[in-house]
Amino acid sequence: MDSSVALNADISLEMNLPNKIKIGGHQYKIVFPYVFTERFDQCGDHDSSTKTVRIADNEYNVKRADSSIIVTLIHEILHAIDQTTGHDMFRGNEGEKHIEALSEGIYQVLTDNPNLCDIITYKE
Ligand SMILES: [Zn+2]
Repeated sequence: MDSSVALNADISLEMNLPNKIKIGGHQYKIVFPYVFTERFDQCGDHDSSTKTVRIADNEYNVKRADSSIIVTLIHEILHAIDQTTGHDMFRGNEGEKHIEALSEGIYQVLTDNPNLCDIITYKE
């Protein structure tokens, strides 16, 4: 048996992402897992016209880590926020570098400070 198949079987617990996320007053549909057939290195995209975010669970035909999947979700949410607010500041290679840094940073802060979400969503 191919060892990579065995490894994938060991980590094949399917991660759940929400089906919808509200961004800027819009309901975005989350399609996960999505298989990008155009490029094997593409992990996600967002379409502001159809209000759809697509996230891959494989990259180069290898199962991605849950943390990478969540960072990609944050990345695509940031793109959606950028476009729905009309800022459109994350364009081109430089914009992608900024959004990747923010995605990793937001993921780290939220995962290392789990009570932060409770504080943010606290209602009197
Ligand atoms: Zn991007």
